[in-house]
Amino acid sequence: MNVYLLGTAGARYVVAKQLRASAGTVLEEDGEFLLIDPGPGTIVHLAKHKIPVEKIRNILISHKHLDHSADLNVIVDAITEGTLKKRGRLFIPKEAWEEGVLLSYLKEALAETIFLAEKEAYHTAKFSFKTTKKLLHSAETYGFIFNLKDGKSLGFLVDTAFFEELISEFQGVNYLIVNVVRYEPKEGVLHLSVQDVRKLLASLRPELTVITHFGMTMLRANPFKVAKDLSSELNLKVVAAYDGLRLTL
Ligand SMILES: [Zn+2]
Repeated sequence: MNVYLLGTAGARYVVAKQLRASAGTVLEEDGEFLLIDPGPGTIVHLAKHKIPVEKIRNILISHKHLDHSADLNVIVDAITEGTLKKRGRLFIPKEAWEEGVLLSYLKEALAETIFLAEKEAYHTAKFSFKTTKKLLHSAETYGFIFNLKDGKSLGFLVDTAFFEELISEFQGVNYLIVNVVRYEPKEGVLHLSVQDVRKLLASLRPELTVITHFGMTMLRANPFKVAKDLSSELNLKVVAAYDGLRLTL
């Protein structure tokens, strides 16, 4: 599987000033594409990285927040040829759908809409994933675990505050992509900080962890240094994503 992390921005100011791109993540398996969380600028960064938007057939939204859904409209317009073709499969929390992250006329152009539920399995021709239980965030939000062809698994731990069950939810993943918005934890902020990630990784011990979705405090701390420190402290492979990072798993 190829994984393209088109953007690594994770909080209001970083998105607003585009200090990092806020584009989504693309998975590619045997020519099938799945786009996760198309934040602002996804359409631009798909073009920049020569990923053919018209070939995307699956879109997965973790939650309704703008930095995870803003470009959904333009992507659906592209894959349905401006609604002329009924195409595309959208996996989305019901809350995001009902709140209208996608305009009504584009909703009708989708071939299939699937509402996400906790701890359910989902399949397309080439992709197989399950949701986690609802995450602790200010919207209906799910994490994802993808099964890879070689029997390994890839976890996406998106926006959430830390809670103990995250450890059991992601137990056994071989690879983990984790949104780390904050360097230090802050009361009332429903996002992971570096100390939360340290605790998680100490239990989960994935073969490879990619930290991404950075807020200002992370950018100031330098994500590459944070990843390096976590790697040496935990004796694990932890890397910091940059815009356009491509992984082959
Ligand atoms: Zn969010």
